[in-house]
Amino acid sequence: MNPEMKQLGEERSAIRELFEYGNARKGEIGAENVFDFSLGNPSVPAPACVREEISRLLREVPAERLHGYTSAAGDPAVREAVASYIGTQFGVPMSASLVYMTCGAAASLTVSMKALCRAGDEIVVPAPYFPEYEIFARNAGAVLVPVPTDASFRPDLPAIAAAIGKRTRAVLVNSPNNPTGAVYTEAEMRALGEILREKSRESGEPVYLFADEPYRELCYGAPPVHPMAVYENTLVLYSFSKSLSLAGERIGYIAVSPRCAGAEDVFSAVCGAGRSLGFVCAPALFQRVAAACLGKSADVGEYRANRDLLANALRAAGYRLIEPEGAFYLFVQSPERDASAFCERAKRRELLLVPSDSFGVGGYVRISYCVPRSVIERSLPAFRALIAEYPTPYA
Ligand code: PLP
Repeated sequence: MNPEMKQLGEERSAIRELFEYGNARKGEIGAENVFDFSLGNPSVPAPACVREEISRLLREVPAERLHGYTSAAGDPAVREAVASYIGTQFGVPMSASLVYMTCGAAASLTVSMKALCRAGDEIVVPAPYFPEYEIFARNAGAVLVPVPTDASFRPDLPAIAAAIGKRTRAVLVNSPNNPTGAVYTEAEMRALGEILREKSRESGEPVYLFADEPYRELCYGAPPVHPMAVYENTLVLYSFSKSLSLAGERIGYIAVSPRCAGAEDVFSAVCGAGRSLGFVCAPALFQRVAAACLGKSADVGEYRANRDLLANALRAAGYRLIEPEGAFYLFVQSPERDASAFCERAKRRELLLVPSDSFGVGGYVRISYCVPRSVIERSLPAFRALIAEYPTPYA
């Protein structure tokens, strides 16, 4: 066997490890006594259009048409619907021939990296970042180059510019962000576009923007600017996992901007990477469901209420945090430097929090607040008691 793969299989991610621990613990002491904030599994039901469309399709489309293979890149009508939605909703040109349907953002990421990176190429990413990026990049033969954000989790644009070198193939951004909840402003995105344009000119080859967007609709303020509106060499890596609460159904897309240099060749490389990785013909039923629900989302108000309840209570208890503007994670500074040690203490109070080390920074914990409100309410005494264990937190 391949020893690297064996090791990957044996070493579960810190998040999955904690999730499995939580399941075992719930079996021991009862689910209601464990406060599991480990996984980003949507807690708000899918919008009604999802069930309605599934029922309609089951009723009206013969099974052999509904469940069969689609084209490798996806059902043409679905690709058309996605392109037309992007064009009308965001005012950017888009073409169905540049949409590739995928099994969620994980596939959008792995396929795009494989499509555009050659061995040793670099992908610059603001840190903290989604831990699986490292594994996906390695699989494409690429190297992730983390660039710390500032203390408020804003992207450090001069540092990103400085990190872009001859080997840089892409800059990967994720807004709304997992794990910080930061949403990049239009000014930040435009400035980033300007940097990438300049760097592409300097090197004579495009530096691509990979915009990982599974949380686009889960935003508490103004919706984020569309990345294709700020920079031409852009690939949007989208997923319906979070917006439509369909994480288990594995459905998303890659959209290559028609303004991308050599857009058709880039798309051919996307198709080739999809083929090489076995990510062809995304789930057929859910391609159709997603197309019918474009622009809809689960009730963001539910996540906002969770955020407000948790953020206000933790701040009042003495925790340091920055209010998330989107997604459903709270990135809280650990009261002691060693976030893993803090998480171990939290576990003793049945609070399951993810230490920040695998997100590329130390000293924080991620709390996924996509949980029933009652879990947050019941967990608050444990959070208060936990920080009270520290005579001088944040010393
Ligand atoms: N990118 C980010 C930033 C994520 O948070 C996640 C999942 O949590 C993914 C990608 C993978 O999403 P999917 O379930 O659609 O593969």
